Amino acid sequence: MSLVTTPTSQLATCVACHGIRVTRITMTLTDGSVVDFASCHSCEHKTWTQQGTGLDVSDVLRKAQKIKV
Ligand SMILES: [Zn+2]
Repeated sequence: MSLVTTPTSQLATCVACHGIRVTRITMTLTDGSVVDFASCHSCEHKTWTQQGTGLDVSDVLRKAQKIKV
């Protein structure tokens, strides 16, 4: 098994448990907002941020549901 080298800027620390087993992905929601989603593998804490500002899950869901299908 090989590990993918992660750039330093991509390293995230969990705000809940300060663990480093955090997966960060950037996604674009249906209203065009670019948000970062971080998920901690140690404690399951999940964080949404938009341009450095924290988002509630309810905010994310509202943005993601703006366009009806
Ligand atoms: Zn954590």
